[in-house]
Amino acid sequence: MPSSRQIHVGNLLIGGGAPVVVQSMTNTTTGDAAATLDQVRELAAEGCELVRVSLPTGDEVEAFAEVVSHAPVPIVADVHFDWRLAVAALEAGAAGVRINPGTIGAERGVLEIVRAAAACGAALRIGVNAGSLPKDLRALADRGETAAALVEGALRYASLVEEWGFLEYKLSVKSSSVPETIAAYRALAERSEVPLHVGVTEAGTAWGGTIKSAVGIGALLADGVGDTVRVSLTGDPVEEVRVAWQILAALELRRRGPNLISCPTCGRTEVDLVALAAEVERRLQPLSVPLTVAVMGCRVNGPEEARHADFGIAAGSGEGVVFAHGRKVATVPEDELVEALFRAIEG
Ligand code: SF4
Repeated sequence: MPSSRQIHVGNLLIGGGAPVVVQSMTNTTTGDAAATLDQVRELAAEGCELVRVSLPTGDEVEAFAEVVSHAPVPIVADVHFDWRLAVAALEAGAAGVRINPGTIGAERGVLEIVRAAAACGAALRIGVNAGSLPKDLRALADRGETAAALVEGALRYASLVEEWGFLEYKLSVKSSSVPETIAAYRALAERSEVPLHVGVTEAGTAWGGTIKSAVGIGALLADGVGDTVRVSLTGDPVEEVRVAWQILAALELRRRGPNLISCPTCGRTEVDLVALAAEVERRLQPLSVPLTVAVMGCRVNGPEEARHADFGIAAGSGEGVVFAHGRKVATVPEDELVEALFRAIEG
């Protein structure tokens, strides 16, 4: 079931039918405020709406505060082990804090964080992780029921913070296993109305991680489960944002930037369509307008598909036709096709 409760994280609304929010996380040293801020700006320029920044030690609080005060999007602090760091992050202006109560340890620490979040008007993400479950739930996970253990853990901490009167929180139950992630979130969504942050954790490198994330996050979003997403990739976080948007666009939940349709090529293809599509994709990348552009390899299926896109190319033998909003606008040699397409797009 989609979440019915809505929370605020900075100026963003999360849950309760609000558009799914794209998140990522910086991988700079937080103590280097300039580098971290540069990366936050880069992520925001790519469409990242909420950025998580780790706060590993008290030495980095000052730099963290600097990042928060200049960031173009709300910043969430990622804190483990020491509740004082979470409180410091909130006092520094963080829009939220991500905690794993399992690593914070004592209930008193969690209570102090909740009090600080309430006082600062900030939100919390309670992210339960298979590696830090309470003993009884660890035993459940060891019996092969990790998804159930994650859900019980999340609900246990959720009732604790609600007993203290705090409602501005979202939950996450990520796993590095796609089936486990899907099972955990589906079960959690059945039992909770709270907004959910979804993702497949430690999904891997850009290639494998993109596939795992698309399958895991995609399956959940297709069911209406998930209010904010993070694609977790080993690499440049900007890629995480691009992948997240592709997942949202593929499900037609949100669109940002162009949507490229290109045919798989076959024995009828008479131009170097792979190079042509790659060049079109490269030149479309900086655009943020929601256009559909088709790059098709022949005169059989090509013209029809190209005609239905906002702009399109249908290639033929050594030449091709450029379409704009369903109308043929040029017939040019193969090596002029990309230029002619972009003249039409920019025209
Ligand atoms: Fe083959 Fe033409 Fe289809 Fe491309 S559009 S796969 S070239 S039939």
